[in-house]
Amino acid sequence: MQLARTERFDIVVVGGGSAGVAAGVAAARQGAKVALVERYGFLGGAATNALIMTYDGFLYRREQPEWAVGGIGRELLDRLAKFSSPVAPVLSPNRNWVLPFNTESAKAALDDIVLEGGVAVRLHALLIDVRRRDDRIASVVVADHLGRLEIVADAFVDASGEGDLSALAGVPMAYTEQPRYAASLCARIAGVSPEVTVDRALLAQIGAAVPENERLATLRADGGFVLRLPENGDLWWMGVDVLTDGLSSCSQSEGEQKCRATAWAFIRQMRRIPGCERATLVATGVQLGIRETRHPMARHMISEAEALAGHRVANPVARAAWQLERHDTPGRPTMACIGGEGFYDIPAESIRAVAVDNLWLAGRTVGADRAAFSSLRVMGTGFATGQAAGAAAAMALQGRPDYAALKAALLDQGAIL
Ligand SMILES: Cc1cc2nc3c(=O)[nH]c(=O)nc-3n(C[C@H](O)[C@H](O)[C@H](O)COP(=O)(O)OP(=O)(O)OC[C@H]3O[C@@H](n4cnc5c(N)ncnc54)[C@H](O)[C@@H]3O)c2cc1C
Repeated sequence: MQLARTERFDIVVVGGGSAGVAAGVAAARQGAKVALVERYGFLGGAATNALIMTYDGFLYRREQPEWAVGGIGRELLDRLAKFSSPVAPVLSPNRNWVLPFNTESAKAALDDIVLEGGVAVRLHALLIDVRRRDDRIASVVVADHLGRLEIVADAFVDASGEGDLSALAGVPMAYTEQPRYAASLCARIAGVSPEVTVDRALLAQIGAAVPENERLATLRADGGFVLRLPENGDLWWMGVDVLTDGLSSCSQSEGEQKCRATAWAFIRQMRRIPGCERATLVATGVQLGIRETRHPMARHMISEAEALAGHRVANPVARAAWQLERHDTPGRPTMACIGGEGFYDIPAESIRAVAVDNLWLAGRTVGADRAAFSSLRVMGTGFATGQAAGAAAAMALQGRPDYAALKAALLDQGAIL
């Protein structure tokens, strides 16, 4: 076992989801030498590890689809067309514009964008430790099959979703009360005849027929979210919810097993419907879809009131346009519209951690209360905050952060502000 390996970069981004990829590419475009650390063997975060097949937050909730997010996120959407049909907006039952995509195409397109951007990707690398010097992170330690690898850098971005980097660095956490928003199992169902109209009403009817003793997790009373995938006619279904802390192996194991068992109980009932006799689960994610775990403290925590009012600031780094989508009770999500112009600004202080001077926050770790978080956590917004965090980290290496200059650089990189 090889124990002592060290690498040196300007910036380390932890987490290769939407936010982490955008952070890595944005920082590299500012001239930084960047490492992107990801525990799985592919990029994409929840999109690819939890089989979440629609990008939300890219478009305002308006009559016609209009873009709220540009920059690296939009470039990624364009790249997806190289591998599968072009991404096109679809109106969801809640009247939100969503962008369905193929998860395998996303893995390939994300590889492309980071390789072309000159980002050094370290897949199968789990962050396990942080070394601090005074009020700064000096290095991170990741584990792979060879043992421990220390990566030294000048600035760091926490795009881990669960806030692992912030937690290990000693950033205080907000809103620590349990339970968290419900987690969900996303699944691909094949074998349903194209003649069958699969809508929420049908799914709710099937769910209601599942015997009580086979419902180990919660089946959504409204049937959940379903989409017929244009490329192969399979169904993408999100209809099983469970409470888990989303962090401990013990709680997550229980959640995974309960959701899988409940999904199969649902499939058994589905097969009783004419045209669905051959229905089967062909894929679930590598892991459950975890919505909420830690909230690292940022220098500004966006509030529910700010989000609902469509609050604007002088030097924003991103726009959040997705409704406040809370999952307080498993099986019963609630939605609330954003006022003003239908989006609120994310200020630069919300992507800066407290207590650690060279740590930036992106995606799900951005500073917000639980209600505002329920909106800005979606992947479209994650690309935007990631791009901002990466650019900010790189620019901070050249001096103290100047938010007006950051805004100008982001606009230059195609961001919508
Ligand atoms: C069930 C469910 C359904 C959803 N539906 C939608 C939807 O339809 N559309 C939408 O846009 N959003 C949706 N969301 C929200 C969205 O998927 C997430 O909020 C979004 O993916 C957050 O992006 P991120 O980059 O911050 O984090 P993530 O996508 O979670 O990425 C974090 C990455 O960090 C890696 N990582 C974590 N810890 C470590 C570590 N210690 N070491 C190394 N790597 C680490 C992870 O493997 C992961 O790749 C949904 C979420 C859930 C849970």
